Amino acid sequence: MKERTLSIIKPDAVAKGITGEVIKHFEQNGFKIIAMKMVHMSKKEAEEFYAVHRGRDFFEGFTAFMSSGPSVAIVLEGREVIRRNRELMGATNPKDAAEGTIRREFATDGRRNVVHGSDSQETAAFEISYFFNAFEVFGE
Ligand code: ADP
Ligand code: MG
Repeated sequence: MKERTLSIIKPDAVAKGITGEVIKHFEQNGFKIIAMKMVHMSKKEAEEFYAVHRGRDFFEGFTAFMSSGPSVAIVLEGREVIRRNRELMGATNPKDAAEGTIRREFATDGRRNVVHGSDSQETAAFEISYFFNAFEVFGE
């Protein structure tokens, strides 16, 4: 079944100039880009987007990082794209990420880890609508 997932190319990756490299991984894996925009989240927007993590010890530093510069929000479409994108991203901490994953290749540490990806159909729906309205998504 075709699904949609939200990816964010995080501020560390945009600052390092590897946006294109990351997008290339998506396309080489057959994920279809159906929406894309550059965004600079405010601290409050980052806190709202990541509200499930409120109260965790990394929350303050992480949301400061996510609002530290522009990032790129992307909607990907494909069969089982939620799971397949998580696989392609690799584990949260690049030290634990498998060879060939985006985070293993490009991440600096467990916070500055290059990409976000939705983890379920429910979070994907919420996360896509956080950045895009229906007229900005060009799926099937
Ligand atoms: P994932 O992005 O792999 O789904 P989580 O949803 O658990 O990981 O966490 C969201 C983001 O918060 C991570 O991608 C990472 O940037 C940051 N983060 C998570 N755990 C830590 C940690 N222990 N220290 C610093 N940052 C963290
Ligand atoms: Mg997560």
